[in-house]
Amino acid sequence: MAACIFCKIVKGDIPSFKLFESDKVFAFLDINPLSKGHALVIPKHHGEKLTDIPDDALAEILPVVKKLVTATRAENYNVLQNNGRIAHQEVDHVHFHMIPKPNATEGLGVGWPQQ
Ligand code: AMP
Repeated sequence: MAACIFCKIVKGDIPSFKLFESDKVFAFLDINPLSKGHALVIPKHHGEKLTDIPDDALAEILPVVKKLVTATRAENYNVLQNNGRIAHQEVDHVHFHMIPKPNATEGLGVGWPQQ
């Protein structure tokens, strides 16, 4: 979708710190991280809410979230996915947050040396 900020990130029209890319999935660092290593994993297919995303794309997302958790070596982390304004969704392109918790910082940044 032309006006969607995350579609623009996928296309490379807006810069991001890319962590992973496949045919269906893209992952990058959150621009306003809640903790070091806060990442977003999105389907390339534009859809506002979880129910708008094809099952085959959704099926590839959690394994990528798992890879990112492993890369950060976080022992404590949140995986969040907001749908709708009341549920605190700000960007209308489905995204999964992977948020390492600050009390588990040992090893964070491994694989993401620029952070
Ligand atoms: P949500 O409230 O679940 O919709 O979260 C949207 C997230 O997208 C927030 O954590 C923002 O910091 C993040 N965000 C917005 N614009 C960008 C961007 N250009 N690059 C990386 N993350 C972004």
